[in-house]
Amino acid sequence: MPPADPAQPIHRWYPDGLPDELLDTDERTLLRALGCPTLIRVPGVGTDPPRAIATLLHGDESTGLQAVHRILRRRRSYSFDLYVVIGNVQAALAPPGFAHRYLDGQEDMNRIWGMHDPTTEQRQAADAILAHLIAAQPESLVDVHNNTGDNPFYAIVTQDRAEVFNLATLFTTTLLRWDLLVNTLMEALHDTCPSIAVECGLPGRPESLAFAVDGMRRYLGAPPLRTDAQARDHDLLGELRKVTVVPEVRFRFGGELDDEVDLVLSADGDVHNFDEVPAGHVLGRVRPGIGMPVRIHDADGVDVTDAHLAVVDDQVVLTERSTPVMMTRTVAAARQDCLFYLASSLPPPEL
Ligand SMILES: [Zn+2]
Repeated sequence: MPPADPAQPIHRWYPDGLPDELLDTDERTLLRALGCPTLIRVPGVGTDPPRAIATLLHGDESTGLQAVHRILRRRRSYSFDLYVVIGNVQAALAPPGFAHRYLDGQEDMNRIWGMHDPTTEQRQAADAILAHLIAAQPESLVDVHNNTGDNPFYAIVTQDRAEVFNLATLFTTTLLRWDLLVNTLMEALHDTCPSIAVECGLPGRPESLAFAVDGMRRYLGAPPLRTDAQARDHDLLGELRKVTVVPEVRFRFGGELDDEVDLVLSADGDVHNFDEVPAGHVLGRVRPGIGMPVRIHDADGVDVTDAHLAVVDDQVVLTERSTPVMMTRTVAAARQDCLFYLASSLPPPEL
């Protein structure tokens, strides 16, 4: 990281919406003008509790920013204050643009919320934005992300409450239950209000942007969330177990084993995201003698690799039927976060 610019604030706060020149510009010009994590309040014309949308907590996930910018540009007023978070602006701006989840010297900006440990400017910015949001007592929060691999559109919930499911299914009825407690913004707010993350597929695709815009419009136009009953049926996956490549193992997606790598993962492994695969499903090919190149940990951090994986004939295979989700297709994402998660189907809701 370059040394901090003393003229640059730690975060920006626009209590009266974005100024016209920033609404009418393109996203990159907007980000250059902001320069740091930003919170915007679009004042409402009624007295309903605020709603909140977070975007760009990961600098390479452009869809949420594009969608919310398009929506703000219409200059609509709602019966509630609308709060908008624009997260890792610095990572998004770094060349070539929208290419870095976070920068060297930064932390993942979706792992630093509610820590009460303001030891870096990034954490101080997150603390300041979170304090604003909690003080506003929002009715709900939607945190908008992209995936780094092919996935259906889905939403992530952390609590089994009717209003949480009713919020999520405004966007999609494919849901994932997240119990990992890793200081995401969604988790930092989930005891304050229903809080979800929405995953809009790969960035840069028109269908991803259309899904985000559609969902945000339904969210902003919806009546207050019902708390007494679930309005819609859904599919729910949960019991996530995190799959990572051992740090010393060199790997790539696709191609043949050679001197450069110890592990070759299937080039199209992400096509099975949200798809139940049988025992024996092959994740990749490993150099003989390397041993198990991948580890699996449950939500409590317990190593459960042996319960799910084996090396058979130099291939890494799943040993029981399971559902991979969030499989990436980039080495950088696999190193910075994880390769994918294994999930199990949870029972359907009572409507
Ligand atoms: Zn993300």
